[in-house]
Amino acid sequence: MSRRVAVVTGSNKGVGFGIVRALCKKFDGDVILTARDEGRGKEAVDALKKEGLNPLFHQLDITEHSTVVTLRDFLKQNYQGLDVLVNNAGIAYKATATAPFPEQAEVTNKTNFFATVDLCNVLFPLLRPHARVSNVSSMVSQWSLAKCSDALKARFTDPKITMEELTSIMKQFVESAQNNKHVEEGFSDSAYGMSKVGVTVMSIIQQRELDEKGADDIVVNACCPGYVDTDMTSHMGHLTIDQGAVTPTYCALLLPNISSPRGNFIKEEKISEW
Ligand code: NDP
Repeated sequence: MSRRVAVVTGSNKGVGFGIVRALCKKFDGDVILTARDEGRGKEAVDALKKEGLNPLFHQLDITEHSTVVTLRDFLKQNYQGLDVLVNNAGIAYKATATAPFPEQAEVTNKTNFFATVDLCNVLFPLLRPHARVSNVSSMVSQWSLAKCSDALKARFTDPKITMEELTSIMKQFVESAQNNKHVEEGFSDSAYGMSKVGVTVMSIIQQRELDEKGADDIVVNACCPGYVDTDMTSHMGHLTIDQGAVTPTYCALLLPNISSPRGNFIKEEKISEW
């Protein structure tokens, strides 16, 4: 049987780095630290090696489809499958950013939502029985959902919503943001928040679709790491990266054949209502 393998996206620093550290200690198999920049990625691997841990490195820019395909081919060739996928890579403009909102909406959703969907489309066929997918969303997805119109809220919480419908709503957000019509059309005013609404709803749909296909105990959840001291939060978060890694790692290592959580949004290792 092939060796088990876990992949963490965007893990050269921050929460992703903490998740790799935790998986190196707890996961029975190889842990692949990925980064869009090879230098930063290898430095991170070296730092963990100094702690006596042994992650492997693979380059991956989730917005560059060819690098996703290269990773898939590497996994296929070396492991014939994938056991744990943590979709952690993400971006957020600072509150002080001067980039116009239309640009922020487009760029943020390109990485956090559309690229994550693309990566899942490429890597999901590799998921083995009992695989676990941990999609790092945010509590901000809940705040943004609360700010949406009732009509949009109903669509984002519809248990029958499809990936096609979700993708089309997310495209509509980016398009309406181009003319600053997004709030008028019922969306929240947060580009980051809307991208994470997409990630949370995507996770719920992924679980349902896998179950419909009869997948053998593959479990997908969205999660929030909490407010973490990283570059993204300008180091304002009160949690260390290891504390931030706890819930995403919990989702990545859920025991075989658990009935819950599945297709949920998880905060502090507990299901939080969506
Ligand atoms: P950081 O900015 O510290 O780290 C983000 C990581 O994602 C970096 O490794 C970055 O790489 C990588 N990344 C960004 N874009 C890409 C890309 N296109 N392809 C591959 N990797 C990419 O953020 P955090 O660690 O704080 O955030 C991690 C996740 O947790 C994100 O999804 C974030 O939205 C979420 N989150 C964080 C919270 C917090 O309080 N920190 C709260 C709630 C959610 P590089 O170094 O090259 O930029």
